[in-house]
Amino acid sequence: MFDDDDLRDLYQEVILDHSRHPRNFGHEDHANRRVRGSNPLCGDRMTLYLTVEDGVVKDAKFEGNGCAISMASASLMTERVKGMKADDAKALFRRFHELVTGEEAPSDPALDKLAVFSGVREFPVRVKCATLAWHTLAAALEGREGEVSTEEA
Ligand code: ZN
Repeated sequence: MFDDDDLRDLYQEVILDHSRHPRNFGHEDHANRRVRGSNPLCGDRMTLYLTVEDGVVKDAKFEGNGCAISMASASLMTERVKGMKADDAKALFRRFHELVTGEEAPSDPALDKLAVFSGVREFPVRVKCATLAWHTLAAALEGREGEVSTEEA
């Protein structure tokens, strides 16, 4: 078992790794959903390219720039939702939101690696950095077009 400090170090490492080497980063011409997301408070911007077929997220890619947390969150989110049913991905968004804004630290096994973002709850300004990718995902899953902002969410 990890003690709290070890866990925090591990979380930091995962976030740094994903922000420096984001997975699924790049443009996707064949995506059937494309939504831009912005977090004006921090200046994070991203475009999410989602390929949804038969109610399943077949592919997810993103490009953009922003702080380490926003980029790591987009990287981990795309990695996680690929191959997921769209409905399950929507449910995961709600669980992730609870993870970063809830009163109590959840021990939700479904979140798995996404638990690395539990630390942002201590930094309210950072919550929107962590949730930007997920708000963008939710808009894409609903078939919305154009741009979403964390300030309207
Ligand atoms: Zn940010």
